Amino acid sequence: MSRLILVLGDQLSENVAALKEGDPARDVVVMAEVRDEATYVRHHPKKIAFVFAAMRKFADRLRAAGWEVRYTALDDPENAGSICGELLRHAEETGAAEVVATEPGEWRLIEALRHCPLKVHLLEDDRFLASHARFDRWAEGRRALRMEYFYREMRRETGLLMEGRDPAGGKWNFDHENRKPAPEEVTTDGPLRFAPDATVEAVLDLVAREFPSNFGQLRPFWFATDRDQARAALEHFVAEALPRFGDYQDAMLDGDRFLYHAVISLYLNAGLLAPREVCEAAEDAWRAGHAPINAVEGFIRQILGWREYVRGIYFREGPDYVQRNALGQDRDLPALYWGAETRMRCVAKAVEQTRDEAYAHHIQRLMVTGNFALLAGVDPHEVHEWYLAVYADAYEWVEAPNVIGMSQFADGGIIASKPYVSSGAYISRMSDHCRACAYSVTKKTGNGACPFNLLYWHFLDRHRPRFERNPRMAQTYRTWDRMDEDRRSTVLKEAQDFLDRMDAGETV
Ligand SMILES: Cc1cc2nc3c(=O)[nH]c(=O)nc-3n(C[C@H](O)[C@H](O)[C@H](O)COP(=O)(O)OP(=O)(O)OC[C@H]3O[C@@H](n4cnc5c(N)ncnc54)[C@H](O)[C@@H]3O)c2cc1C
Ligand code: SF4
Repeated sequence: MSRLILVLGDQLSENVAALKEGDPARDVVVMAEVRDEATYVRHHPKKIAFVFAAMRKFADRLRAAGWEVRYTALDDPENAGSICGELLRHAEETGAAEVVATEPGEWRLIEALRHCPLKVHLLEDDRFLASHARFDRWAEGRRALRMEYFYREMRRETGLLMEGRDPAGGKWNFDHENRKPAPEEVTTDGPLRFAPDATVEAVLDLVAREFPSNFGQLRPFWFATDRDQARAALEHFVAEALPRFGDYQDAMLDGDRFLYHAVISLYLNAGLLAPREVCEAAEDAWRAGHAPINAVEGFIRQILGWREYVRGIYFREGPDYVQRNALGQDRDLPALYWGAETRMRCVAKAVEQTRDEAYAHHIQRLMVTGNFALLAGVDPHEVHEWYLAVYADAYEWVEAPNVIGMSQFADGGIIASKPYVSSGAYISRMSDHCRACAYSVTKKTGNGACPFNLLYWHFLDRHRPRFERNPRMAQTYRTWDRMDEDRRSTVLKEAQDFLDRMDAGETV
């Protein structure tokens, strides 16, 4: 008897576990654009279009490889609206009694499949370099789960960027050579862009019709939507941008949205690229003398280290992770995250490019929008839902640890040893935003003082009992304590005024 092979929108690889297990001679692949998945948060239109277009092309590829594929478009009148509903419908049509599925990357969907009244075999998703068991073995018994140590084990285990038993270049980490301030000029014109073909155009029309009011610009749409294009995008990055990736990894520029970033996370997360091939492409560039070790090591660390590590944390911590709120922050997400006007140039630019591209790079996410939400005391669950909605690469397994853990410290310090907060000085050092801002980054109080400067101390003062004994923060508290009392109360009052005005809907 045939079985149904479920392929989800972020499982678009021929070697995904369920397809490896299936048999084209007797099994039927089920793929479906369902409303439940398209609406559980109000996804950016570009994100929905990317996933649907890539799914349609992948279905064609599977058909060409000999599979029978039952594909349901979002506007198909028969569409049951949920993954389980679609499986039930196709089980009835085909007489299949069993489903083979690859474990989804979100607890919500894992639960839905577990409760689906069909026999569902959930296979572990082995497209990652560390299995659940491997990560747990590393994590077991450790007091602190610091990424750096996990990363070194992964380097040894995979042999990536190794010379025998030693790290290539003699060191595990070249970060002290990275993180330079923004360059005056960027020597690449960004990621490879693809003109929409007929499949993509049809999806764009569908998304425009079905999701007219979701936050975000649908067109122009230029993402890769199949494996060959994603490979070309990777090769373009390696040739054009990788050599300077390390140097400017943390920089931000008012007039450049991508700098030397790869813009491949959406392809990796959907299955169009595999993590090992991406790391190998970078390593090959170093061995060929095309890219320096600081760039290549920094880049490989993001994928072999951070990406695998956050996934390990997500599955280890369990479904309640996204509800955590260790700092008890409870402000509603300010309207400026949805494009309401703001005079803060750095925030306005990050949100504007998020709206246009469904993309922002790491430092914009961490040190601008994430930093501001944390300083302003926003409810981390609202912050989490925003990130999950607005970025084309956002799936809960990778988004939630980055937001709840790394950015908002809402997990109480599992991922970060101290909160990622900074005053305006950091943004000023790493970007040119402040030059064009209505606020003054050098002003600490008074008219026109940078809000990050005020909120930074407000945050530290609010959470003093939790953080003052953290050795990495003691010096900061000493600086605060050395300020005279009048100055401290002025800072706190002006910060509170700012928050009150923001809550009242004023443009801040
Ligand atoms: C608050 C916040 C939310 C984030 N949400 C997501 C998300 O939803 N999905 C997502 O894929 N990444 C997320 N990240 C991580 C990172 O910002 C993006 O992976 C990166 O910006 C993608 O752009 P890029 O491909 O140009 O990356 P590059 O800067 O060129 O890095 C190369 C690759 O490394 C990987 N990578 C880098 N940093 C991380 C990280 N911290 N965690 C996991 N992978 C990483 C990505 O696959 C990325 O493509 C988030 C980071 C923060 C601080
Ligand atoms: S002055 Fe402050 S608000 Fe303005 S761009 Fe600089 S850091 Fe951002």
